[in-house]
Amino acid sequence: MKPVEQIFPLLKQPKKVVIIMHLKPDADAMGSSLGLYHFLVELGHEVTVISPTNWADWLKWMKGSEHVIDYELNMERANGFLDSADLIFCLDFNTLDRTRKMSPRLQETRKTKILIDHHQFPRTEFFEYGWSDTSKSSTCEMVYDFIVASGFCDKINIPIAECLYAGVMADTGSFRFTSATASVHRMVADLMDKGLEHSKIHENLFDNFLENRLRFIGHVLLNKLEIFYEFNTALISVSWKELVKYQIKTGDTEGIVNYPLSIQGIKLAALIIDRDEEIKCSFRSKGNFDVNVFARTYFEGGGHFNAAGGRSSDTLEHTVQRFLRAMKENASQLQ
Ligand code: 5GP
Ligand code: MN
Repeated sequence: MKPVEQIFPLLKQPKKVVIIMHLKPDADAMGSSLGLYHFLVELGHEVTVISPTNWADWLKWMKGSEHVIDYELNMERANGFLDSADLIFCLDFNTLDRTRKMSPRLQETRKTKILIDHHQFPRTEFFEYGWSDTSKSSTCEMVYDFIVASGFCDKINIPIAECLYAGVMADTGSFRFTSATASVHRMVADLMDKGLEHSKIHENLFDNFLENRLRFIGHVLLNKLEIFYEFNTALISVSWKELVKYQIKTGDTEGIVNYPLSIQGIKLAALIIDRDEEIKCSFRSKGNFDVNVFARTYFEGGGHFNAAGGRSSDTLEHTVQRFLRAMKENASQLQ
């Protein structure tokens, strides 16, 4: 993988660019993709953004999201853009399996793929150019750095600032994690100098749900939270039936895994959800328990040291049992 700066000369002429992100995109995936989208449009390129799957309604305030193609719904159209692209930017993921049904297409294509990502263990062999940095707070921060390094910092307009701020805020837990470095705050200051109204973005992301989601959170915290004090671990498992009962949609379960970490002493929190098409697992940790390795070892997943995800094609019951066995196997690191 060649350094990402080597792509700048290629951007001097108008190009057909496709930007893709990981499945079920979060604020960082969608924000970085749309931030880069607006920037490349400003530079005169023809740009298309594709998401491997649908996304949460609370991301729909982002300018440009109305043009994002859902690959699962519009495969033929999306493949047309992939086939005619000069460059494919891959944001906020580093293994092709994070793009679900797009993965075989991306594996085969001879198009130039450019990686910008901050997750652990990148598969750099799949990308011709790129920048992988696990110390970065977010892919949005990296897109900001990319824009600054390109020399076109003056092109940052309000939509770019809003999209990038959203991802940085989400991935730093509203600037509380150690990844929210001084340079992250300097970036935010620069975005504010350029006209960003930051409190509006916080409201868009965190005060923009429906009643049913809050009732659902009440239900899972009251009835579904299990605590294994011996292992400093908390688990919430959710059945498909419960998702249907509370009319839970894509994105509504985001953030729920963090609640148990607020309990004194809890080092590992897990959320296991039967999404019908597959079982989705989310893991969060406090301190020195590495959930990236945990997710990779037991749940075909990965992510970051303190925040990772995975999946299982087993039943919910068996997945929970697998989790409990994994927890016990890791007793020495959890106790
Ligand atoms: P979440 O639990 O919110 O879905 O994901 C937490 C973090 O882990 C995010 O940065 C997300 O991109 C990453 N992640 C989630 N699921 C997977 C997975 O199956 N594989 C990998 N490599 N990363 C994942
Ligand atoms: Mn991210």
